[in-house]
Amino acid sequence: MGGIRPVAEIASFHAHIYFDRESERAAALDLRAAIAERFSVRLGTIWDRPVGPHSKAMYQVAFEPELFETFVPWLMLNRLGLSILVHPNTINQKRDHLDDSLWIGAALEIHGEVLPEAAEAELAGEPNTTPTVAP
Ligand code: ZN
Repeated sequence: MGGIRPVAEIASFHAHIYFDRESERAAALDLRAAIAERFSVRLGTIWDRPVGPHSKAMYQVAFEPELFETFVPWLMLNRLGLSILVHPNTINQKRDHLDDSLWIGAALEIHGEVLPEAAEAELAGEPNTTPTVAP
């Protein structure tokens, strides 16, 4: 059987945490603070408008594959009602977002047509959090 892909294709993961600017922004910021207290990750810009393929305000959390087994279950328990997209980062961003992702909470529209199908796989980058609390 062809087409089986090795997990080593995954350079990092993103969690995108979406929020409504009026009704969910405070929860999204609470969740962001709780993440920063517990996980060594790279928190991205808080976008109060849709950017790139994302159809709603959101921020990105980039993390190493090794963190998946604790961070993703923690998000399942602590999403505060928000929609979260978790996707791998490989060389095919369109496939990463549309076909190989998972949703925690309600799924939202993703505008995959703006994403490249061949690019350098994105690394998690240097963490910008300093966790002090066990998850
Ligand atoms: Zn992403």
